[in-house]
Amino acid sequence: MGKALIIGCGGVASVAIHKCCQNSEVFEEICIASRTVSKCDVLKEKLQGTTKTKITTAQVDADKVEELIALIEKEKPDVVLNLALPYQDLTIMDACLATKTHYIDTANYEPEDTAKFEYSWQWAYREKFEKAGITALLGSGFDPGVTGVFCAYALKHEFDEINYIDILDCNGGDHGYPFATNFNPEINIREVSAKGSYWEDGHWVETEPMEIKRVYNFEEVGEKDMYLLHHEEIESLALNMPGIKRIRFFMTFGQSYLTHLKCLENVGMTSIEPILFEGKEIVPLQFLKAVLPDPASLGPRTKGKTNIGCIFQGKKDGKEKTYYLYNICDHESCYKEVGSQAVAYTTGVPAMIGAMMVMTGKWNKPGVHNIEEFDPDPFMDALNTWGLPWRESHKPVLVD
Ligand code: NDP
Repeated sequence: MGKALIIGCGGVASVAIHKCCQNSEVFEEICIASRTVSKCDVLKEKLQGTTKTKITTAQVDADKVEELIALIEKEKPDVVLNLALPYQDLTIMDACLATKTHYIDTANYEPEDTAKFEYSWQWAYREKFEKAGITALLGSGFDPGVTGVFCAYALKHEFDEINYIDILDCNGGDHGYPFATNFNPEINIREVSAKGSYWEDGHWVETEPMEIKRVYNFEEVGEKDMYLLHHEEIESLALNMPGIKRIRFFMTFGQSYLTHLKCLENVGMTSIEPILFEGKEIVPLQFLKAVLPDPASLGPRTKGKTNIGCIFQGKKDGKEKTYYLYNICDHESCYKEVGSQAVAYTTGVPAMIGAMMVMTGKWNKPGVHNIEEFDPDPFMDALNTWGLPWRESHKPVLVD
């Protein structure tokens, strides 16, 4: 079918690349390009010979638009799948515009020097992408990603109107370390140490970090403490779900994680303000990332399951109804299949599926769009085919 250029070669990219290689009919060719090309070469060595997908590698600094344009012009991919960091979203979108190439990512843009993530920067490209006749698919991971597809599916098949959405992200996995993050530590800690917020009656309600706590009994995981966070899909869902009254996002955290995080915050280690250390400027959070376990190394030691999904309340045929769509994923099975833990797996699989939707033309909508703006059905089918089967319940326990 075609060729994808995959930028980044970390935890999430590794899973997406494995999945592209399982799906050679669609991904006839992939080019893996990242800052550290040796990581791309290692993955190429591991996978070639096991797949019909032709794999090439390249070095690129994705902060530099000119380098990206030169790479895209040389490789001529049908789509660019951005699995580097949120800091690179805009430079990669600029290069896609210059070369008229479709764009897919899993996380919204964040400026490196401000811990603030929102869609405004990427939505500002809408008209340019539309005029260029190319599609930008934003947020094709699990959350954002599958959660948005779940919302679009619920609206299409189960409701006339959705009024309340609670997104529950539970990681019941145990890696045996007192403190480690399941994806890029810098991005993860910026996300969880920020103020919380939710959408209610047309506006944001802000909370202190971890101020709102609930306990929920997750299928195949058990009872967990979960905390309300700000999360990027709330921003787009608030616009794209007609009749919505409230959207909240909860993530589970264990006490050890929270105690370590509080202590690191209290001593200044999570700060993104540069400090002088032995005559050199360093960012404390980046230094912390360097001493924490690499999320990619958690795969062989993580046991347990993730359970992520959306609980909906709304109306169908004039009657109130509730509905829950979710996926349960086992860390050890993921490791057996692709050598990664479930957090990378649940992000990398939808990233591959999003790239497939755009490459095959099933999703073709010039402009910049969030995932819930597309027809959910082919994506929902692909989740079942490619390792993230979904489950549903018509009588879920609600979150108060
Ligand atoms: P990693 O840190 O493991 O990988 C990031 C990769 O990007 C590394 O290979 C890194 O290269 C590369 N990279 C960083 N900067 C540059 C640059 N300037 N030029 C080229 N390559 C660069 O991160 P993850 O795999 O954990 O996360 C990847 C993305 O997925 C992030 O944006 C994250 O926010 C998102 N994510 C989304 C989720 C969702 O559900 N939607 C969930 C989890 C993550 P190097 O090897 O040199 O460091």
